[in-house]
Amino acid sequence: MTLVLLRDDDPNATTPPDRLERAYQPLLDAGFPVNFAVIPEVALDTRAPDGVRERFLDPDSPDCADDMPLLADTPLAVWLRRHEQATDVFLHGFSHRRRRAETEFGALSRDESVPLIRQGLETLSNALGRTPMGFVPPWDRLSRGAVDAVFEHLDLVSTGWIDRPRLPITAWPAYVAERLGQREALRVRRGWLLRHRGGKILGTTSPDAVAALVDAMTAGADVGVIVLHHWMFWDQPEPHRVIVALAKALLRRQVVTVRQALTHLDQLPVVRLSLRRGLLGL
Ligand SMILES: [Zn+2]
Repeated sequence: MTLVLLRDDDPNATTPPDRLERAYQPLLDAGFPVNFAVIPEVALDTRAPDGVRERFLDPDSPDCADDMPLLADTPLAVWLRRHEQATDVFLHGFSHRRRRAETEFGALSRDESVPLIRQGLETLSNALGRTPMGFVPPWDRLSRGAVDAVFEHLDLVSTGWIDRPRLPITAWPAYVAERLGQREALRVRRGWLLRHRGGKILGTTSPDAVAALVDAMTAGADVGVIVLHHWMFWDQPEPHRVIVALAKALLRRQVVTVRQALTHLDQLPVVRLSLRRGLLGL
């Protein structure tokens, strides 16, 4: 059985929750949980490679070198606490700043990563009253040391891809087995790494294509992760047609929180060599 996990990336202390709620109202109304990958202490001057300020920063927030932590009285934190039953949260980096090699955690050592992860978890726990169980690396980039640091503190990593050398050697057999079966979930230490099949696809598609895309992103996976970016869906006063189509496409699917995904993964058999797609998939 394939579970579906909806992941929204990049909400942070500058995010207006009323717009967030409007973007995902069709999903929330249908009872589908949305898992928010929250930036704990967002860097207010983070820029895309073309120099434009990242779209996840509210244009009305100050464009300066400071970080803005999520606090208990930050509007987003208040909203997430109020919708605790309908949502779950990931830790999404620390400040989403391009610290090294144009990434946040893509070129840090374990010892550099640990304090950022610990402080990020503390910030989110204090603001939200719950501690994330999963991590989403900014720009899908994790160094070998950051992998160790993350799995010392959290049980699940959701990312698009990872090079095998960045995993501990003990996870290499699981990596090969996962690539053979393309089930998108592999054991790393006592946790799980979940791959997704595309980052911003839904934001650029037509509503008519959504159902087929959901099938493509989830077929054969243990947990099919669908990645969303709220700022692609909140420009209009009425619900975005892609999100309406997504809610429809998910009917009769089992849509889960991070916690529920982990429970499901932990119950899977230890050895699974699915050759569904054959050796050519290696
Ligand atoms: Zn991000």
